[in-house]
Formats: sequence, structure tokens, C-alpha cells
Amino acid sequence: MGHTVTCIPGDGIGPEIMAATKVAVAATGVDIAWVDVEAGSDVMEKYGTPLPEHVLESLRATKVGIKGPITTPVGSGFRSVNVALRKELDLFANLRPAVTIPGVVSRYEGIDLVVVRENTEDLYAGIEHMVGKDAAESIKIITRAGSERIARFAFEYATREGRKKVTAVHKANIMKLSDGLFLETATQVAADYPDIEFEDRIVDNMCMQLVQKPELYDVMLCPNLYGDIVSDLCAGLVGGLGVAPGANFGVEIALFEPVHGSAPKYAGQNKVNPTALILTAVLMLRHLGERTAADALFAGVKQVVGEGKDVTYDLGGSAGTSDMGEAVAGAVRAILA
Ligand code: NAD
Repeated sequence: MGHTVTCIPGDGIGPEIMAATKVAVAATGVDIAWVDVEAGSDVMEKYGTPLPEHVLESLRATKVGIKGPITTPVGSGFRSVNVALRKELDLFANLRPAVTIPGVVSRYEGIDLVVVRENTEDLYAGIEHMVGKDAAESIKIITRAGSERIARFAFEYATREGRKKVTAVHKANIMKLSDGLFLETATQVAADYPDIEFEDRIVDNMCMQLVQKPELYDVMLCPNLYGDIVSDLCAGLVGGLGVAPGANFGVEIALFEPVHGSAPKYAGQNKVNPTALILTAVLMLRHLGERTAADALFAGVKQVVGEGKDVTYDLGGSAGTSDMGEAVAGAVRAILA
């Protein structure tokens, strides 16, 4: 059976890495009808908004989307399209796996971590105000309902993917009410999943432990802000943003996007690494139930990166974005033959 997927190439380097990713995905033979829609700074003039209503409508209809990065202007202009999409569609769960790919330069080997980040609450909700002229207050919101649905998501994910352990990350020793509620709720949800080990770590200790003994960890369940920081730390363990995939999930809709941004200075040069978006497509294929295709695409990326011949500048090669997409496609075809 075929799939219909909304595709948002984004701006900056987005369209180039999306084109390379589509070539690689096509090699898996999975039947995907792409619904291409535009969002981002490049469509401001055309639609009067960087996030036209038809983009949201398409995602609501297809339930699955893949997205390239979108520039967020600093200081003035529109607010983040990425944050708006997550809010409008209530994509409450953010998933960021960090897996070692042999051939990518990193200080570590054998990393296999997943950060599950709450996407809607916490200090990240951006509720802040000035108190007089010389003080500012940011409000940290943590709810039982928000904590419960993200904890359940983490345990369901761990169960589905054969993971062994979930670690709740918090600072409940200091923020006894907000982080205390997050931890208390996670502990209650954990009781429903006796086959998955559960533990918790204070966020500062978690960061140190990840640097010293990353092999002790598996799935990390984080409130929004800690998840933002810990997931970048984990991306650093496996070689950085060029190889870091991600996904956002709501109750019905899933939107897949790499962790990195639109790298405007490289836009239009056919130069940047499409790997993070191709690995994001691996997550998408798994979500669509296309496990064989997902495994072949992942294996294809590992082969091309491991050989180190058809790779982009950041991986030590001189291949263009499109060359690397073609090389992964060739590897995938050979793997599936
Ligand atoms: P960035 O991730 O775009 O780029 C930082 C640097 O990382 C680049 O200069 C480049 O050296 C490297 N890099 C990133 N992606 C790469 C790739 N695929 N291949 C090779 N090298 C790569 O971060 P930034 O410069 O802080 O942000 C640029 C814009 O992207 C901003 O407007 C920001 O708001 C936006 N952004 C969007 C998203 C998203 O769409 N989800 C995420 C992060 C940032």
C-alpha cells in the first residue's frame, strides 16, 4: 500500500537536502505520494505569512510530514515557524536519537541514545514579562497531563523499539514543585511498564554522566528545556548536527525534521550534508511501518559514510549534496537487490 506524505522543503539549505533525501528514499522502492507545500521566509511575499494555512491543512490530512529547516529571523520579523507548527498541531513529543555512524569523526564509539523531549511546556513556552524596568520573570509550566503524556510516549517508544531503560531527567531537588511533578508522574507511569527499567538523574549529573559513561544510558525522558540541551549534547557525542535526525509527534500527526537549522551561508551551493535529513527519513519510514526500507536506508547511509568517498565537506569529502544522495540511493539499491 502506498503512503501520502506532506513535504516541506523549508528554506536555506532545506530544498537541496530534501531533494537528495527524496532520491535516497525513492531507492527503497516504498510508494510515497509527496504533497509538496511551501513554508518559510521565501514564501512570506507570496502568502503574507511564513506558515500558510494550506500547509497545516495538508499535515492534518496526510498525518505524516517531513520538513527541512526554516530560518527564524533574530530580533524582528515572524516568530519561529518550527515552534508554530509544533504548537498548532499539538506535536507534544520530540524524539532525537543519537547513534554512532562509523566514519563520522567523534570522540566516542558505539553510542546509541534517544532523547524524548516534552515539546509544549516548561520555560520553553516563552511566558515571560518584565517586573519593573530591571527584572524579568520567566514562568515554568509543568502539568500532570503534559508530564503523563510524554512519559507514556517514552515508555511506549521504548517498548516498541525493544529498548531496555528509561531515565527521567530533572532538577527536582531544587524545583521541588514543577520538576517534582514531572518526576512523580514519570515514576507513576513507569509502574505500568514493568519490563522497562526506570531510573532518574538530576540534569547536571546527567550531562556529566553522558560525557563520561554514555553506554549506561538508553532512552532519556526530559522536560522541554533540559531535552533541548541534553539532545544537543548527545548529537555532539556522535559527531554533531550534520548527522542528527529528529521527529515530532502528536496524538495523530507526526512531523519529521532534522535537528540542524537552515545554514543560510551555504544555501544554493550543493555543499552541505544531507545525512541528518536522510536519517530523519529513516525514522519516518519506521513510523510508516516500512521497517525493511528503513533498515536498508540506514544501512545505505552507514555504507556511504563508512567508505568516506562520496561524502560532503564536513565528513572530510568533497562530494556535493546531490552526489551524496545519489551514492546513498545506489547503496540502498544494492542492499535491497
Ligand atoms: P544551523 O544548524 O543552520 O547551522 C550552524 C552551522 O552548522 C552551519 O553554519 C554549518 O557549519 C553547520 N551545519 C548545519 N547543518 C549542516 C549540514 N546539513 N551539513 C553541514 N553542515 C551543517 O544553525 P544556525 O546558524 O544557528 O541557524 C540558522 C537558521 O536556522 C536560524 O534562522 C535558526 O533559527 C534556524 N533553525 C531552524 C531549525 C528548524 O527548522 N527546525 C532548527 C535550528 C535552527
